[in-house]
Amino acid sequence: MADRDGKIWMDGKLVEWRDATIHVLSHTLHYGCGVFEGVRAYNTVDGTAIFRLYEHTQRLFNSAKILRMKIPFGFDEIVQAQRDVVRANNLESCYLRPLVWIGSEKLGVSPKGNTIHVMVAAWPWGAYLGEEGMRRGIRVKTSSYTRHHVNITMTQAKAVSNYSNSILANMEATDDGYDEALLLDAAGFVSEGAGENVFMIKKGVVYTPDLSAGALDGITRSTILAICSDLGLKLVEKRITRDELYISDEVFFTGTAAEVTPIRELDRLQIGAGERGPITEKIQAAFFDIVNGRNPKYAEWLTKV
Ligand code: PMP
Repeated sequence: MADRDGKIWMDGKLVEWRDATIHVLSHTLHYGCGVFEGVRAYNTVDGTAIFRLYEHTQRLFNSAKILRMKIPFGFDEIVQAQRDVVRANNLESCYLRPLVWIGSEKLGVSPKGNTIHVMVAAWPWGAYLGEEGMRRGIRVKTSSYTRHHVNITMTQAKAVSNYSNSILANMEATDDGYDEALLLDAAGFVSEGAGENVFMIKKGVVYTPDLSAGALDGITRSTILAICSDLGLKLVEKRITRDELYISDEVFFTGTAAEVTPIRELDRLQIGAGERGPITEKIQAAFFDIVNGRNPKYAEWLTKV
């Protein structure tokens, strides 16, 4: 990804893509203390707009606070940086990656005495789990790896180091021929996907794990809560067991990258009819209406670049 044309916002300036480099002795590279975001811009009916930019930027600042990192830029500067990057790269729709990391002044576990840095990159990125997966549903495996305990890493921070757990789970699942992993919390209850929140539908009611199961408070998850309310669907946040998913009617993942991805099979057991379910399809359609600017109720969630 490094050798290409384009611009990346780095510590207050737009720099050439190839020049956006850091030193090998950067603290974050060694100890994993860093935070990031995943954001999407859509080519809406009203032009290119970033979806829920303020919520993503707030979560970036919250993640940094949790990890005791002081971002050396204001909230508005980071908002503007994201708009600038989309425009500077002439992107109609894209994925954005803001990242906050610790510099290379000194090593040792204590980051004290190091500078904090910020970058924002953006590039085109289609369906994270594949176009076919969006239509037909994907195949998921319950991971042998446990999701983070809420007092081991901080599960409400989108922290760089949290993702070694996601990577292990995803590699295990994909090596075994599945599309993605589902992780259980330390007590054995359903938590989330490697990079997605999870929902299930049973007898017309929508369920999702409450955040005490260590799942990230996903911005797409909160969009789905609003959609369920609009569609008159009852939504329950509760502890969920893996076998509840096995015998549910529909299951789907949500995330900025994954958007709304149906799950047709879990641990080689067919979910419902083994295809995208009718309620999932309705929720998915409502989601794409909102992000593409076709639902005026949510116009304030779209920030033009
Ligand atoms: N859980 C994890 C672990 C994630 O990485 C993501 C993606 N950010 C999500 C859930 C979904 O969050 P969002 O909808 O805010 O992208």
